[in-house]
Amino acid sequence: MYDYLIVGSGLYGSVFAHEATKRNKKCLVIDKRSHFGGNVYCENLSGINVHKYGAHIFHTNDKEIWNYVNQFAEFNNYINSPVSLSNGKLYNLPFNMNTFYQLWGVTTPQEVKEIINKQIKEFGVDKPKNLEEQALSLVGKDVYEVLIKEYTEKQWGRKATELPSFIIKRLPVRYTYNNNYFNDKYQGIPIGGYNKIIEGLLEGVEVKLGVDFFENKEDLEKLASKVVFTGKIDEYFDYNLGELEYRSLRFEHMPLEVDNFQGNAVVNYNNAEFDFTRIIEHKHFEFGTQKNTIITREYPEKWDKRKEAYYPINDSKNSKLYGEYKKLAEQKNNVIFGGRLAEYRYYDMHQVIGAALAKTKKEFSQ
Ligand SMILES: Cc1cc2nc3c(=O)[nH]c(=O)nc-3n(C[C@H](O)[C@H](O)[C@H](O)COP(=O)(O)OP(=O)(O)OC[C@H]3O[C@@H](n4cnc5c(N)ncnc54)[C@H](O)[C@@H]3O)c2cc1C
Repeated sequence: MYDYLIVGSGLYGSVFAHEATKRNKKCLVIDKRSHFGGNVYCENLSGINVHKYGAHIFHTNDKEIWNYVNQFAEFNNYINSPVSLSNGKLYNLPFNMNTFYQLWGVTTPQEVKEIINKQIKEFGVDKPKNLEEQALSLVGKDVYEVLIKEYTEKQWGRKATELPSFIIKRLPVRYTYNNNYFNDKYQGIPIGGYNKIIEGLLEGVEVKLGVDFFENKEDLEKLASKVVFTGKIDEYFDYNLGELEYRSLRFEHMPLEVDNFQGNAVVNYNNAEFDFTRIIEHKHFEFGTQKNTIITREYPEKWDKRKEAYYPINDSKNSKLYGEYKKLAEQKNNVIFGGRLAEYRYYDMHQVIGAALAKTKKEFSQ
């Protein structure tokens, strides 16, 4: 009946569906959630687009991908400039001359370099064995203790000394007064929210919501010549080789009768005394002028199978297990495994779109 059964209406599934439909392929998209869009879904509450699964800021250096998403929605000129609250003081992110002025009262790049290099030298470790040592050897004691340690420990639910160093590969330090979190050429928020992009991608595609693939796998698979699977790869194989691990999040959304709660879309809460890592005030993503506001507190959580899997834990144990599932996946000629859950990797939006476009290019050139 269908050329493709696409499991998951997130960006990967929706881009695949769009590209296949454009080539006159008949697609059915199913999603177990009651809405489309996966983690980029926005719920409009009192005129404010609430990022239901955490703050999503689109950024890319790839002009092709930028043009691709702009077909479906116009983007505003939002620039992500989060601030971090630590010991009652606010600091600009990413680490830049504003942050260093706030930390040490210094005003020149030379002074900053001297302080950071002195602290790195004082620490004196060449081969960091854990995240704490890694951070101290990259940015020194002050930046680590004020802006990294407690936040990271909350995020991962473990002491920084017990976390692997690979979590922090680089800690970019900017010697300019530039609070733009991303370095990419293109950045913004789709005006009207991310649903506009998903709606555009899924126009003319049959979509069934509230359908869990695993509740009726055999019958659903029979509906199409090929399956595009964007759910969890270990679940697809019934956890035969074991379970992949994740970190989860809980979002607490709260409407407030004030017009401006925190003056910025993203405020990080660095200290351990707060259980949450950040507060998002959604209206600021679209420069909203509503009389009220909606905020979301983001709580990192230990993951288990009943919870949403947000961040893969790509340590050696899980990477090895994923490698074994990947081998099983490669033997299934009629199933394409794509997206963050099926490929067990953290993808930004532009990357997942890029991956889906590359896959469709390959699929339809045959
Ligand atoms: C907190 C957070 C913040 C982020 N912020 C940013 C950001 O600022 N910028 C950025 O570029 N990226 C960000 N991302 C990444 C972005 O969310 C992903 O790149 C993108 O959503 C991945 O799309 P996907 O299609 O792979 O997965 P998903 O969006 O997860 O879609 C998968 C879909 O499959 C469905 N599904 C799964 N299993 C089944 C099943 N058995 N049956 C039916 N349906 C099923 C799910 O319900 C889901 O809808 C963020 C991610 C998180 C977690």
